[in-house]
Amino acid sequence: MSESVNRAVNAMKEQIDAPIASYFSSCVHCGICADACLFYTETGDPQYTPIHKLDLMKRVWEREYTLSGRVRKWLGLNKSITEDDLTKWETLVYDSCTLCGRCSLYCPVGNDIVYMVRKMREAMVASGHAPEGLQQASKRAIEIGSPMGVTLQTLKAQIKHAEKEAGMEVPLDKQGADYLMLLSSAEIAQFNEIIPAVTRIFHEAGVSWTLSSEAFEGTNSGIQIGSSDIAAELVQRIVDGARKLGVKYVISPECGHAYTALRWEGPNLIGKPYPFEVVHIIELLDQLRAEGRLKLDGKDDTRQTFHDPCQMVRRGGVMEQPRNLMNMVATDFVEMTEHSLMGWCCGGGGGVSASERAEPLRRKVFSKKRKQLEEIGVDRIVTACSNCRNMLEEGLEDNNMDEIEVVGLSEWLAEYLVTSSPRAAGDDS
Ligand code: SF4
Ligand code: SF4
Repeated sequence: MSESVNRAVNAMKEQIDAPIASYFSSCVHCGICADACLFYTETGDPQYTPIHKLDLMKRVWEREYTLSGRVRKWLGLNKSITEDDLTKWETLVYDSCTLCGRCSLYCPVGNDIVYMVRKMREAMVASGHAPEGLQQASKRAIEIGSPMGVTLQTLKAQIKHAEKEAGMEVPLDKQGADYLMLLSSAEIAQFNEIIPAVTRIFHEAGVSWTLSSEAFEGTNSGIQIGSSDIAAELVQRIVDGARKLGVKYVISPECGHAYTALRWEGPNLIGKPYPFEVVHIIELLDQLRAEGRLKLDGKDDTRQTFHDPCQMVRRGGVMEQPRNLMNMVATDFVEMTEHSLMGWCCGGGGGVSASERAEPLRRKVFSKKRKQLEEIGVDRIVTACSNCRNMLEEGLEDNNMDEIEVVGLSEWLAEYLVTSSPRAAGDDS
């Protein structure tokens, strides 16, 4: 066994815990999970059956932790793991899984495939088998503070633009604000309309908020590549920034995995509870709607749908809130056939979009979203994740459907809200 294979096998052994053992032992090999995964449905290739993506780890589990596997090991009957196996499974666990969680809803025994893929990725990272794109993104996140290399200087430049556009100051490092708003790198670099949009919304609704120059990045490459150490360090930076400003809430941005990292995994990653609450931007906007703090200035008559970001909706539970907001503004809101809990992924979540190698497969499986959109015929797709937004724009262009506009929910909402005269930054009085 080569040194590299040895490292990978040992890393997998370390990652196999009680849940993983129970998932492998309860799998009835029915293959039903295949029909839940767009990498299988859009290619017909059995290697993309969700449970098969874990087969390498399963072989280690059987060999090391089951009686029959140990007997076979003793008799020298187990199939050895090779360098070629590692190369193949690296592509399966990184390029053909968006961590969308749809397969778990189909599995009759409820196996949590995302949990297993995350564990397998931890082992792949530990043994040096993670895609270059994700390795680079994680390095930039640790060294620069953003997976895309976005700096504080860039944020400040975008804040200046936003202040001009919104006609009011954008609060930065405002001590004692109630809410700390995080952004994703893609929002700062590409979809920066979000900054004037939330500035106007929060101003009108009387929300006391701020951005932070020390904790502005909400994304977490550690979650995507499968490194709990990196993920914990990135979460800790947000905790430190929030603590310094004394905020009561931290707002997770329109980015799917940022919400998973901060809301659901963060306290376990850093090993302690937060001194604040985490709220998704869409949850907060819906709360403001319910409290009558969002005043409409007209409605949107175009035909539109909502694309469910998997981490926010299926895995995160923010399901009704975007629909409440859509129904508040849109007069012709139509759902895709399978939506909400059963929505289909854009194809680029879970770090898939960060891997150049995965691009041909990712573009191919967009056929699922294309078919869904063709069925309903819309003018606009509203979503709440900047990565989904990028994937949708790319997929629509590939399929000559780019007459369909893609927008972020917060920014779209801001267009239809009453705007009164500006006041001081972050002033909720
Ligand atoms: S989590 Fe999603 S992408 Fe990954 S195997 Fe399951 S259905 Fe496929
Ligand atoms: S659906 Fe569940 S039980 Fe069936 S093969 Fe997939 S993981 Fe195993």
